[in-house]
Amino acid sequence: MMSLLDELSIDFTKVGAPSEKFEEVSTGLNLDSALLEASRCLQCYEPPCRKGCPVRIDVPVFIRRIKEGDFAGAAQKIKEANLLGGICARVCPVERLCEMDCTRKKMDRTVQIKMLQRFATDWEEENWKKAITLSTERDERIAVVGAGPAGLSCAYELRKMGFRVTIFERSENTGGIPSWGIPPFRMPRVVVQSEANFAIDTGIELICGKDIVFLDDLKQDYDAIFLGIGLADDIQYKIEGSAECIFSSNQFLRQAEKNKLPDLTGKKIGIIGGGDVAFDAARTAMRLGGESVILYRRTFKEMPAEQDEISAAIDEGIDFKLLTTVTEFIHKTGGICTAKCQVMELGPMDRSGRRRPLPVEGAYYNLDLDYLVWAIGSKLDLDFCSMNQINVDRKGRIEVDENLMTNRGGVFAGGDSINKQNMVVRAVAEGKRAASNISKYLEGGI
Ligand SMILES: Cc1cc2nc3c(=O)[nH]c(=O)nc-3n(C[C@H](O)[C@H](O)[C@H](O)COP(=O)(O)OP(=O)(O)OC[C@H]3O[C@@H](n4cnc5c(N)ncnc54)[C@H](O)[C@@H]3O)c2cc1C
Repeated sequence: MMSLLDELSIDFTKVGAPSEKFEEVSTGLNLDSALLEASRCLQCYEPPCRKGCPVRIDVPVFIRRIKEGDFAGAAQKIKEANLLGGICARVCPVERLCEMDCTRKKMDRTVQIKMLQRFATDWEEENWKKAITLSTERDERIAVVGAGPAGLSCAYELRKMGFRVTIFERSENTGGIPSWGIPPFRMPRVVVQSEANFAIDTGIELICGKDIVFLDDLKQDYDAIFLGIGLADDIQYKIEGSAECIFSSNQFLRQAEKNKLPDLTGKKIGIIGGGDVAFDAARTAMRLGGESVILYRRTFKEMPAEQDEISAAIDEGIDFKLLTTVTEFIHKTGGICTAKCQVMELGPMDRSGRRRPLPVEGAYYNLDLDYLVWAIGSKLDLDFCSMNQINVDRKGRIEVDENLMTNRGGVFAGGDSINKQNMVVRAVAEGKRAASNISKYLEGGI
């Protein structure tokens, strides 16, 4: 038997990434190691792994199926809870989710649930699909705005219930951030497209290249609406100096995906931030021939990025300037820019539970860079919300009630647009929850 990734070798020229350097870094488990790892699972009666999974995958059952050699059955178990099981098997921060409280950890080490999930979903990409059945067709129509993880999962669940569903997506691609933002060396595009296509092929109408501006245009034709619009805008602080050498992380990663960045060979790229997005931008720049330096206000200890990302970045030769922020970016002749860097020190704890970075008075140094990338987060499209009279909460996310319904009746939301903890698996979980609530709403139960 061949795995999905063996069969479909990724053509990076088609997906935009220019070289084999963008091939997936993490290699999955082979058959022998998967069987061995599956045999380590204790098959707990009340499995903490299932509780830790936002979509409640029945982990012990899928692992048992792997152990018994029923790989299609394992994949089916995963996918019945999570349409995007292959994507999540690559990017879920499992140390904080299913693997966190694994009982086996008390004996020796946690079972590698994520790697086993990847093994099953890659191996049996085709066979599990045969098991999916759709309910009888219903008349109600639902519009889903956004084809990211939240939108896809909501649309798929509704479709399985028999509803007529249309997804409106402003870009030309399905998959949301995993299709362009999480770099291919962590998230092969073939996996994203395969899982997105599977959902669409259940009979969902997909309209790409359609930017929804006014929800009232949809209200006439649809009985309910789901907003899976993510966070479209970048957060950027005001910085003095030249704008043409400064990118937001979204711009940088999107342009890398489309092969539209300037030639980075031999260029020095400063990335401001300490989260996964900063690391993704830095590792991408390195693969494009640049030299990356991460500029972060605190120290390694406070960095929000996953440990794996930090270790990979160190291994790949990325440089770090810690306790540093950039206050000015000056374009000099010859293309080089100078970043004026302010030295920081750690003060008392702030609300995030980390020590607050404070500027050291008068302590500055200069750093020559060719480009600067802001990677300090994204925010909601507030214009969209105000134009559509959608309330936004104090954290800058769409306000929803316990049913994930916004202040506008029949308009539901999920994913990053309502969440402070941005994760693919949470977006999937909310898409599912919203689908079930939309069904109740249409039956008059909400
Ligand atoms: C660089 C990067 C790395 C990440 N790494 C990880 C990781 O390792 N693990 C992890 O779990 N999470 C990671 N995330 C977060 C994860 O990608 C998000 O949590 C997830 O994609 C959210 O899904 P979503 O559907 O809510 O939003 P999105 O994925 O943003 O999808 C929203 C979709 O809606 C469309 N849209 C928006 N407005 C409109 C409109 N008005 N009309 C039509 N379409 C519209 C957009 O084009 C987009 O396709 C990362 C994010 C980034 C940026």
